[in-house]
Amino acid sequence: MVVEILAVGTELLLGNIVNTNAQYLSRRCAALGFSVYHHTVVGDNEKRMTEAIRQALDRSDIVILTGGLGPTEDDMTKEVCAKVMGFSLEEDVRTRKRILGYFKAVKRKNITDNNWKQAIVPAGAKVLDNDNGTAPGLILEKNGKAAILLPGPPNELIPLFSEKAEPYLRTLQPDTIYSKMVKVCGIGESRAETMILDLIDTQTNPTVATYAKTGEVHLRVTARAAGEEEGKRLVKPVVKELKTRFGLHIYSTKEDEELEDVVVKLLKKRGLTAATAESMTGGLVAGRLVNVAGASECFYAGFVTYSNKAKRKTLGVKKRTLKQYGAVSEETARQMAEGGARTAGTDACVAVTGFAGPEDSKEEPKGLTYISCYLQGRVTVEEFHFTGNRRKIREQAVVQALDLLRRRILEQDKHE
Ligand code: ATP
Ligand code: MG
Repeated sequence: MVVEILAVGTELLLGNIVNTNAQYLSRRCAALGFSVYHHTVVGDNEKRMTEAIRQALDRSDIVILTGGLGPTEDDMTKEVCAKVMGFSLEEDVRTRKRILGYFKAVKRKNITDNNWKQAIVPAGAKVLDNDNGTAPGLILEKNGKAAILLPGPPNELIPLFSEKAEPYLRTLQPDTIYSKMVKVCGIGESRAETMILDLIDTQTNPTVATYAKTGEVHLRVTARAAGEEEGKRLVKPVVKELKTRFGLHIYSTKEDEELEDVVVKLLKKRGLTAATAESMTGGLVAGRLVNVAGASECFYAGFVTYSNKAKRKTLGVKKRTLKQYGAVSEETARQMAEGGARTAGTDACVAVTGFAGPEDSKEEPKGLTYISCYLQGRVTVEEFHFTGNRRKIREQAVVQALDLLRRRILEQDKHE
């Protein structure tokens, strides 16, 4: 079944607000197994709204409209939609009572006349009670098509959709979509895709899709099934196959788990403590680790040693090393990691040194980065050649630094 999201509001067209409702609704609809083919945005204008609703109903089975349900003159979504679909309007007594109750609850006394406009509904529409505002959601059904009208403010739309509109949509779409995310690090998107081209090409249910993130590739395995159990059963062997192919490069199969979550989890699990010694990334690696609640148990200190002097004084990098090999070198990276662990008194330290370059520099070594990891007496260094602007280069370095620490801990397990 095809769904169209039709967001109403001149504010959206002017770029004053971002259409986050469309993103939310699309994501939910995809998860419910609907195909979303169009996102439309239209201003608070009767003629253009009429055209947009007509077109949406023509090419889609379900149209979800957001915004323009409020009390003011420019809020006309309900009126226009009712007109296009041939519904008359009438007052809904239950909604009138609910609005009164809502104003009492929020202790508002000056109820203006136009508020009662929100109790007027298309005759025969399903009314979805809004617990967080006054305008109710509405479902209008005609000739096998449905329009779902939801208020614009996300704090009203989200609960109304998930609690009231979703159950309705589920009755229309018996299939569920079950998907699992496999998060890969340390392999570029094109290489990752080549590694699973056969799966991408031949699989129809489940399907495998790749999404490039900075320094990471996310693989989504998606199955269409009669229920969640069947979905899981279909997805499982494909995820297993991806695990065989990507091995240690997979850092998580959980949707909301970030690389730093995994690193902190591993450190805690092994009872290890860690520090960071950063030059080019200026503390960003430490910042990512501190994102994780409870990181203080295992993350002791982050050193930002941008100058050579700081590298020497704080981390004990040898003057000779800096002179002979330069600040961006394997040797310096190695001494930064060792020095960071020594100074902080930790089991591990990850160090980053590189050339992020100015924004448009064509300078040759731009992107050249050494990332080193000290872990209980053993140091390794990896060389990277990142591309992109300064920000992009630094972001990639952060990801690789976290990943190197992660891989080192896991590899240590294997050696034991
Ligand atoms: P209200 O009763 O507040 O007037 P409404 O249903 O009439 O609600 P709008 O007037 O269109 O909705 O928008 C009200 C507010 O809701 C906007 O100022 C904006 O903050 C938010 N909003 C509206 N549409 C969207 C959207 N598509 N994505 C995100 N936020 C939105
Ligand atoms: Mg409004």
